[in-house]
Amino acid sequence: MKIQIFKPKYRINECLEEIKECLEMGWTGMGFKTEQIEEKWKEYTKLPNAHFLSSATAGLHLSLEILKNEFNWSEGDEVITTPLTFVSTGHSIIHAKLKPKFIDIDEYLCLDPNLICENISSKTRAIIFVGLGGNVGQLSKVIEICKENNLKLILDAAHMAGTKYLNNHVGRGVDVSIFSFQAVKNLPTADSGMICFNDEKLDKKARKLSWLGISKDTFSRSTNEGNYKWKYDVEEIGYKYHGNSIMASLALVGLKYLEHDNEFRRKICKLYEDKLKRISNIKIVPTSSDCISSRHLFQIRVPERDKFLAHLQSQDIYPGVHYIDNTEYGVYGISDQICPKARQASNEIISLPLHLELTEKEIERIVDCIKKAAGDIL
Ligand SMILES: *Cc1c(COP(=O)(O)O)cnc(C)c1O
Repeated sequence: MKIQIFKPKYRINECLEEIKECLEMGWTGMGFKTEQIEEKWKEYTKLPNAHFLSSATAGLHLSLEILKNEFNWSEGDEVITTPLTFVSTGHSIIHAKLKPKFIDIDEYLCLDPNLICENISSKTRAIIFVGLGGNVGQLSKVIEICKENNLKLILDAAHMAGTKYLNNHVGRGVDVSIFSFQAVKNLPTADSGMICFNDEKLDKKARKLSWLGISKDTFSRSTNEGNYKWKYDVEEIGYKYHGNSIMASLALVGLKYLEHDNEFRRKICKLYEDKLKRISNIKIVPTSSDCISSRHLFQIRVPERDKFLAHLQSQDIYPGVHYIDNTEYGVYGISDQICPKARQASNEIISLPLHLELTEKEIERIVDCIKKAAGDIL
């Protein structure tokens, strides 16, 4: 039987009930369930603001556009980020006509604070920190660096739905955090995400810009009294980035189970850890002691990674790689190898299967395969 890396789990009947309400009401767009998920997300995370979007990619771009505008950044100003991430992170910087500056990583596979300090220039405006796999890495230090250097801190929290950091849900202490509810993330819909600005004024901007710059949303117009409910003003050239009630329906159900599901993920990771920690040549990527990770990923490092993957695939086990060093992608126009640690990690990492239907037997099978591969290949 084939073992995949990810497999989203939906509580189907509950999802259908929520969606049915939308269909019966004739309201599938923004408003209604999108407002409910925003309220529930704020309640769950205790973050002050939350705006539901069509994706985290949209959220990353929106966050930069808004900060750039608010703080008068210029075209070509720099945003520091990690090369070990999904391409949404770097793309969003370029979409906002800013310049990504890729800085190397630490043992947690997150941005290394020491290297950040060395690379801040007069053009640096912000840092996008990626909590890889749900881990916070050295986020505490990065928060300090941003305060000291007057830089904005954007948290790419695509993997971090449910991550606790210093006893709270992650997202405090940063200017804006962006969560992904894409189908393979910890709170799966099909595609959607949440942008959480610390500053209410910027949250309001996000609401306006995510709906083409229109200053009032349709739902509140249709429920307003009076004769002018059709009337609105357009104050800016915005984007079509807001979420809809069908996706929000899936998110509302998913959120009820997020704690339970993440606990299950942590159990699987503990099993992996116990079984793999004594195999020589296999290193387990550590989790920062600052956090209880959402455990989006369980990552190990091996020499001869590609042979390792081929062996596992020959046994019908399909792990993943998160991620290829983004400086390798021609689109960013970087010819030198500027982040040697990220490049090395990129050649060594494997994300083992991690999802809610994984059984102990399957974990045994995966571990046996890894042991065999470690013996045969290394
Ligand atoms: C998935 C992901 C994104 C993008 O999320 P979408 O909701 O699919 O747009 C951004 N950053 C990272 C690190 C991701 O893994």
